[in-house]
Amino acid sequence: MEKARRNRTYDVIIVGGGIVGSAAAYYLMKQDRNLKVAVVERDPTYIYASTTLSMANIRIQFSLKENIQISQYAFEVLDCFDDEMAVDDERPNIAFRREGNLFLVDEGGRSNAEKAFALQGSLGCPIEWWSPRKIKEKYPLYDVSHFSAGTYGPQDGHLDAYALLMGYKAKARSLGAAFITDEVIGILDEDRGVCGTALASGSELISNVVVNCAGAWAAVVSRTVGVEIPVIPVKRRIFVLDTKVKPDKPLPLTVLPSGLYFRTETGNLILLGKSMDDDPVGFSFAWDDKRFQDLLWPELADFVPSFDTLRIVRGWAGLYAVNTLDRNAVLGEWPELKGFYLANGFSGHGLQQGPAVGRYISELILGLKPVLDLSVFNPARILENRPLNEGGIV
Ligand SMILES: Cc1cc2nc3c(=O)[nH]c(=O)nc-3n(C[C@H](O)[C@H](O)[C@H](O)COP(=O)(O)OP(=O)(O)OC[C@H]3O[C@@H](n4cnc5c(N)ncnc54)[C@H](O)[C@@H]3O)c2cc1C
Repeated sequence: MEKARRNRTYDVIIVGGGIVGSAAAYYLMKQDRNLKVAVVERDPTYIYASTTLSMANIRIQFSLKENIQISQYAFEVLDCFDDEMAVDDERPNIAFRREGNLFLVDEGGRSNAEKAFALQGSLGCPIEWWSPRKIKEKYPLYDVSHFSAGTYGPQDGHLDAYALLMGYKAKARSLGAAFITDEVIGILDEDRGVCGTALASGSELISNVVVNCAGAWAAVVSRTVGVEIPVIPVKRRIFVLDTKVKPDKPLPLTVLPSGLYFRTETGNLILLGKSMDDDPVGFSFAWDDKRFQDLLWPELADFVPSFDTLRIVRGWAGLYAVNTLDRNAVLGEWPELKGFYLANGFSGHGLQQGPAVGRYISELILGLKPVLDLSVFNPARILENRPLNEGGIV
């Protein structure tokens, strides 16, 4: 099977089969069943992919119009995902639990929160502005004395990221996309355009369109063809906690102004994380609980005093693909290399962006008018050093 595909020609080659690559393959095939699409993924078990190591939270609370619209589309897709992605009798089960997202607001952040809230409202998002008293009524375990408000998204929630990924992958494959297990070791180019990829197995795939969906490895892949993008791998740690006092109902993903976030997980456990400026850069997945013990536990116990007694059950580390220019996605054709498309730099919110980004990339490649204009994320802003302004990044 694998041999038959050697040195084959494709309409589109996608490097990386995580949520972004698999969604792009699905939307391409959905648009045109006759396309020849190859997704090259070096690890079909996805043990280091950000998709499977994520918190799998989906939220609408952003402060950039396009990021909000991207999430609105995600909600649309997720609502009928299990049906739409069914292949014969096999239906995925993404278990989307809309348990809400609650962003705490302090005095310093109030003006930005008000602006984001107004923008979300103008786009039809059902976000609620809660007083400290209302937060306390809803979640009595929280000490809200340091906060002036909270914004609550009742539609937000979390899902099974692996099931989401497998759903896209299986459907894309059923429509004719080829998923190839191999590593892209070089993007090939001639006359200022791409012409294929070189694989670790020794073969080459030929195409005038190559899409970089390599997640935290995006810059490594781009560099093979001389394209420098400001995307770095940054380690983020998640901690799984068993608290002595259990909340009487699920806690929403609760985000403090410092960036500390937590939510309940199946089994009455708590998942917690925080992006910090000194998080290590590089491809390491080593995890320990020191940071939680030293820094995060005291902060958590300040906000939820009854969580001062708990047990750290386990945890994991995964990589954010951080776009150091502005922490937002980079989407579209690289201006200096024809046929080289980027779908990179999602930092901490790429899972929920998979559906809209996959569709958008397919539209760009096929020359269709995008249903959702995401040109604000054009890679040209890297060359022009023009960062986007998004305050709602976690
Ligand atoms: C701890 C953590 C929590 C997160 N929480 C959330 C959240 O709550 N909500 C949210 O929306 N997002 C979250 N994210 C971010 C989200 O997981 C990512 O933005 C998203 O999964 C990116 O998807 P991707 O397909 O670009 O990358 P990945 O899922 O990393 O997929 C890239 C794939 O490319 C493959 N690859 C790389 N190089 C090559 C090569 N040369 N050849 C072949 N294959 C290659 C890799 O093996 C990998 O499978 C979180 C991330 C982390 C780490």
